[in-house]
Amino acid sequence: MDVPDGSDGPDTGPLPFMVAIPQHELETILRDRAAELGVPVRRGVAVTGVDADDEGVTVHDDAGGTVRARWLVGADGGRSVVRRAAGIGFPGTDPEITGRQALVDLAEADDLEPGWHHGPEGVWCVGPAPGRILTVEFDGPPPDRDVPVTAEELEKSLRRVTGTRVRVTAVHSATRWTDNARQASAYRAGRVLLAGDAAHVHPPFGGQGLGLGLSDAMNLGWKLAAVVHEWSGDALLDTYDPERRPAGAEVLELTLAQVALMRPDPKTIALRRFAGQLLDTRAGVNAAAALLAGPDVHAPLPGWEDDPLVGRLAPEVRLDDGRRLAEVARDGRFTLVTDGTVPVPDPESDPDRTTTVPGPRPMLVRPDGVVAWSGRAPQCPRADTA
Ligand SMILES: Cc1cc2nc3c(=O)[nH]c(=O)nc-3n(C[C@H](O)[C@H](O)[C@H](O)COP(=O)(O)OP(=O)(O)OC[C@H]3O[C@@H](n4cnc5c(N)ncnc54)[C@H](O)[C@@H]3O)c2cc1C
Repeated sequence: MDVPDGSDGPDTGPLPFMVAIPQHELETILRDRAAELGVPVRRGVAVTGVDADDEGVTVHDDAGGTVRARWLVGADGGRSVVRRAAGIGFPGTDPEITGRQALVDLAEADDLEPGWHHGPEGVWCVGPAPGRILTVEFDGPPPDRDVPVTAEELEKSLRRVTGTRVRVTAVHSATRWTDNARQASAYRAGRVLLAGDAAHVHPPFGGQGLGLGLSDAMNLGWKLAAVVHEWSGDALLDTYDPERRPAGAEVLELTLAQVALMRPDPKTIALRRFAGQLLDTRAGVNAAAALLAGPDVHAPLPGWEDDPLVGRLAPEVRLDDGRRLAEVARDGRFTLVTDGTVPVPDPESDPDRTTTVPGPRPMLVRPDGVVAWSGRAPQCPRADTA
C-alpha cells in the first residue's frame, strides 16, 4: 500500500465540499439512465450457467431460457455464478470476524454511548443514524450466513461486546458480514469480464465497495462500447485488469488493516493508540483521508507512471468558454483540452469521438474521466489509440 504523505497529492482543483448520495438514490439514477437508453433489465431471473466460446457467450437462466451475447460482464456480487462458470479463481484471506449492522429499536440502552467503542470482546458503534448499531466480534465467521439476522442474535452480540443488559425490541433492517477479502485472479477470461463485488470482496469499513465497483464499470464501459462498435480491437479489454486491479488490491489491504487494528488483544490496543496519535496530526489525517477517498481513481497507464495527472481522474478546470471541464466531459466521448502550446490531432479527424475545447491545461480525457495524455508528452494520441 502506497501511503500518501498527505501534502502533495495530484492537483484536482478546488473541491471544497463532498457530495454524499444515498445508495437508493444512486440506484434510482442508474435505473432511470438505463431506461432512458432503452436497456432491458430482466428482474427475478437467476443466471445458472455460462458457456463461452470464441464468438460469444451463452447464458443459461433458471427459467430454462438462454441468452446469446458477444460479451458478458459478471456483476453478480461476491458469490458470482459468472466468475465460477468462467473458471476464474478468487484467492484471498479467510474470515476471522462476524460483523453485524442494523437499524433497531432498543430498550434499557441508557449505558450505550453514541460513537465507536472497543472492549475486550470486540467493537461496537451506536449511531449516527437513530437506532443504528454495529458490532464486530473476533470469533470467526457465522456458521450459516444465509439465515436471517434476528433481534435475538443482535441483542446477544450487543450484550457480549458492550457488557450491558440492553434489549433489542424491533429490527427494521439488518446485515451480517465477515472480513472475507478476495480478488479475482483475472478480471477477464476471454469473452467474460467481472466488475464490482464479483471481482473483489472486502470488509465494509471505510465504505468503499460501491465506489470501487462503479469505477470498474466506468473503466470497462467505454472500452466494451469501443470493441462492440468496432472502433477498437478487443486488446483494449486487456487494459481493464491492469488498470483496475491495483485499486481493488489497495482497498482489500486497507480494509484488512482496519480489521487488524480492531482486535481486542493488548498488543493491538497499543498499536491502535499509536495509530490514533498519528491520525491526530494534520498530515496523518490527510494521508488516511486520501487513502479512503482516492485509491480507486488511479489507473497506472504504461509510460506515464510518474505523471501527476495521467491515469487519474481529470482535475476540475474552468475552460476558456467559462464552462467546467466536468460539464463537457460527461457524454461518453473523449475530451481534448488544448492551450495551443502542443500539437494535437486535427479535431476534424475524429469528430465522432472527441470534443475539442480550449482550456488552460492540455490534456486528453477518456470517456471514464481518466486523463490519457497530458502536455508533458510531445504528441497527443487520437482517441482510438489513447
Ligand atoms: C454492511 C455493509 C455496509 C456497506 N457499506 C458500504 C458503504 O458505506 N459504501 C460503499 O461504497 N459500499 C458499502 N458496502 C459494500 C457495497 O454494498 C458493495 O460493494 C456493493 O453493493 C457491490 O455492488 P455489486 O453490484 O458489485 O454487487 P451486489 O450489490 O452484490 O449486486 C449483485 C446483484 O447481482 C444479483 N445476482 C447475484 N447472483 C445472480 C444470479 N445468479 N443471477 C442473476 N442475478 C444475480 C443480485 O441479486 C444483486 O442484485 C457495504 C457492504 C456491507 C455488507
